[in-house]
Amino acid sequence: MIVAIDGPAGSGKSTIAREIARRMGFEKLDTGALYRTVAFACTLHGVDLDDEDGVVTLSRSLDISFDSAGEATRISVDGRDVSDDIRTPAVDRIVSKVSAYPGVREAMLPVQRLFAQDRDVVAEGRDIGTVVFPNALVKVFLTADPRERARRRVLQRHPGEQLSDEALQREVDETLADLERRDRLDSSRETAPLRAADDAVRIDSSRFTIDEVVDQIRDLISK
Ligand code: C5P
Repeated sequence: MIVAIDGPAGSGKSTIAREIARRMGFEKLDTGALYRTVAFACTLHGVDLDDEDGVVTLSRSLDISFDSAGEATRISVDGRDVSDDIRTPAVDRIVSKVSAYPGVREAMLPVQRLFAQDRDVVAEGRDIGTVVFPNALVKVFLTADPRERARRRVLQRHPGEQLSDEALQREVDETLADLERRDRLDSSRETAPLRAADDAVRIDSSRFTIDEVVDQIRDLISK
């Protein structure tokens, strides 16, 4: 069984998918991590991001594996754990360029489909319900107020820290600009743009608590 959760950056996909996985015993597939890994590998191997052929060739050669045994999914490429390296502002800035190349997306398809073979998976990304798993049993398109999305991202970056109002606002403004730039690129690319599948259920996560969103998705699963 596949549950597909798509939506823009910071809409809460990751948190919701983790909760669904934990409560329902599904495996969680974070597909953004794949594109982030390709982007990071480009910097590691000195591949020019404007060199589409070079980026696609590199993406095809990578041996990417997930370890979802612990609380947070770990991702490795060619035997190196890159889970922390891929979640940096530097990767945020370049990932949408890499993910827009059709050859990169094609190279990531079998990785995602193989992961979901013979098991229950909750997969989150941008094109899960439209391209990767068009036959998913449940499809959700998660949205949230942009400023709220930016605020969540900033708070995630500073767990347990007490930021001054001024520092918080400044970082929220910067993060909002990055999220909006990324959403624009992800929505306007020709191959597999960010969009809701026709049969997806739209949920605005800024109007509900995490538990409420999870309950709505569980209801959809058990229908
Ligand atoms: O979900 P996350 O913010 O980690 O995704 C990082 C980037 O990876 C997105 O901005 C998008 O460019 C790309 N992505 C994609 N298709 C997916 C998941 C992520 O193009 N299914």
